Amino acid sequence: MKFIPAKLAGRCADGFERGQGVKVHALINATVQDHTFAYGDALCKAEPGRRSVGWSAMEGYGVTCPKCLKKMPTHWMDSFGNIATNEWLQTSDKSTSDYRAEYNIPCKEIGGKVIPMVEPS
Ligand SMILES: [Zn+2]
Repeated sequence: MKFIPAKLAGRCADGFERGQGVKVHALINATVQDHTFAYGDALCKAEPGRRSVGWSAMEGYGVTCPKCLKKMPTHWMDSFGNIATNEWLQTSDKSTSDYRAEYNIPCKEIGGKVIPMVEPS
């Protein structure tokens, strides 16, 4: 499962932007065209509204949508049960595409324990 940070394009696309910064969602099943236009499903199920022109890719940005964050994995597990944090996988120099392919089970830290989570459907 791969995430692309993206925001709804267009002015006040979701009523959140004024004074509160940009609401960056996590898109799954996503593709990006020309580093700008993103297509996919927001974890929080947000959809471009009538006045919006769709998703803008926000490469390099962190997800800020509270609903998306709740559904984002905090950790990933490999088939041996080893655990890496999402942050490490996304930002560490040592995290190669091999690592990101191996650690493919999304997990969430709940009450100090890291447990596999069910993929959002
Ligand atoms: Zn969202």
